[in-house]
Amino acid sequence: MWRPLALGLLPLMVHAADYSGPLFDAHLHYNIEAWDGHTGPHPPPDVLRRLQEAGVRSILANSRTNEGTHVLARDNGLRDAGVRVVPLVRLYRDRRDYNHWFEDPSIAAMVETELARGTAAGPFRGLGEFHLYRSGDARGAVAQQLMALAETRGLVVMAHCDDTAVDLLMAATPTAAQRLRMVWAHTGIDGSASPERVAALLERYPGLHGELSYRPGLVCADGQLCPEWKTLVERYPQRFLIGSDTWVNGRWDAYLPLMQDYRRWLGGLTPATARAVAFDNGERLFPPLAERGAQAR
Ligand SMILES: [Zn+2]
Repeated sequence: MWRPLALGLLPLMVHAADYSGPLFDAHLHYNIEAWDGHTGPHPPPDVLRRLQEAGVRSILANSRTNEGTHVLARDNGLRDAGVRVVPLVRLYRDRRDYNHWFEDPSIAAMVETELARGTAAGPFRGLGEFHLYRSGDARGAVAQQLMALAETRGLVVMAHCDDTAVDLLMAATPTAAQRLRMVWAHTGIDGSASPERVAALLERYPGLHGELSYRPGLVCADGQLCPEWKTLVERYPQRFLIGSDTWVNGRWDAYLPLMQDYRRWLGGLTPATARAVAFDNGERLFPPLAERGAQAR
C-alpha cells in the first residue's frame, strides 16, 4: 500500500543526479600564454591533472600559436593517461590575425603547411576556431577558399560567427554544405540566434553542430537548461557539444567548476541525450583513427 504513494512523491524529493560519464571537451585552446613556450602557468602535467579531475577523455585542441596543439599532441603524459588529442589547425599566428585571416593568403599557406606537417597524435582533423565578428567577412576570399578545402578534404571547421555568417560559409562549399561539418562555437555570437533560428539551421545543414560554451540564455537559475534549450537539445540530441573555451588562463583555473556546471544540466536530460552531448557526438564527429595515427608517435 505504501509503495505507490512513495513512488508518487519521489519526483518531488530528489534532484536529477549529475551526469557522471566521460566528457569530450569540444572547445579547448592551449594558447601560448598557458604554457609560455616551455612551462608557463599550465604546463602539460597541470593540463592533464585538470582534465582527469573533470573526467575529460577527449579534447578538441586548437591553439594560438599552433605549437600549443603540437605540445599536447606529443605529450607522453596525456597519451599514457589515455586522453585523446584531436588536433585542429588554428588560423592565427598572433592576435592580429583574428581581424584579417579571411582575406590573407599567408593564412591559407600556413594551413597547408600545418596540414602537411600533421601532429604526433595523427593528422589535423579540421580548421579553427576562427572568428568572423562581421558576417560579411565570411565572403573574404581566404574564408571561402578554406571552406571549400575543408569540405573537399573532409575536415571539420570550427567557427565563431553569427547565423548569417554560417549561411555564407556553408554556401562557399562545392556541395552547398551537404558534406561540410561545422562546430559552431557558442552556437552563435552573444546569443543573437534564437533557439528557433538554431533549429532552422540544424534542419538546413546536416553537418552543423552547436557547441554550448558561453551561450547566453542556455542555463537557468537552477543550473539546468532553460526550457526552450532543453526542448531543442532533446529534439536534436546528436547535434550539440560542450566545451571549456580556455581562451584565457582564467578558464584553466576554472576548468573543474566549468565542467561541473555542464555535468549538472546534462544530468537533467534523458541519459541517452546526456551521453551524446557530453561525449558521443564528439567521438562521432572525430572518430578515433585506426592504429596508424596512434602509433606514429
Ligand atoms: Zn574559443
